[in-house]
Amino acid sequence: MSCFHEGPNFLAIDPDQCIDCSMCVPLCPVGAIYSEHDLPEDQRHFVAINAELARRPDWLPLRKAKGPLPDHADWADHPDRLSLLIR
Ligand code: SF4
Repeated sequence: MSCFHEGPNFLAIDPDQCIDCSMCVPLCPVGAIYSEHDLPEDQRHFVAINAELARRPDWLPLRKAKGPLPDHADWADHPDRLSLLIR
């Protein structure tokens, strides 16, 4: 079973599948993944958001690795990506 569930413009990590092994942390090209132990205080609200989205029936588990989107670097420092999240 995959930890990652894919939505229209976001990947959510299922907390019921994640064993916090941290293998995905260095693989994110924009440093958007944190071990739960290292999660900055101002990012803690993403734990509940990931849990909610990963349980949506239309957010299916990611079965194959995908490379970064061509414009991923443009979004790395966007100040309010959460407002753009499509549920
Ligand atoms: S920390 Fe490990 S178990 Fe959790 S999402 Fe990343 S690779 Fe999967």
